[in-house]
Amino acid sequence: MEHTVVCCECGKPIPLSQDIYALDGEWQRRFPSMNGTLACHDCAVGTQWSCQRPGGSEYVDGHIAASGRSQMQDFDSWSHILGNGTHRAMVIKYPGAGLRQGAEEYLRDAAQRRGVAPALARELRAAISDWDSSTAPVRLNGVSHS
Ligand SMILES: [Zn+2]
Repeated sequence: MEHTVVCCECGKPIPLSQDIYALDGEWQRRFPSMNGTLACHDCAVGTQWSCQRPGGSEYVDGHIAASGRSQMQDFDSWSHILGNGTHRAMVIKYPGAGLRQGAEEYLRDAAQRRGVAPALARELRAAISDWDSSTAPVRLNGVSHS
């Protein structure tokens, strides 16, 4: 993959030799300036917080429970890492973030490629069309049709 995925937290390109880490909504709540949800190893593993108040009977205010976990199962930042994997695997799995974080050309190509499973291709095309409609006003800036 020629296009570099940029970390949602530190903004640095993630080396192809490193895994990409997918972060959940609790990360986005805590770090509202995050651009996307795919992070480098150092940001994902090196960021620490506690999900629970001292005593462990309550979550901190505003806490967004990690999906699929029963109550009070979230412990710290690692509870909110959805998974990790290769660049290709992670941008295909999280195309919305991939598009925003530098894998746009790769994903557009993958959506059209022969041999890609139809369900996956549909999913990628849907993500691309969302992306296109969310960025359209920016692209059309200065071009008035009215
Ligand atoms: Zn980073």
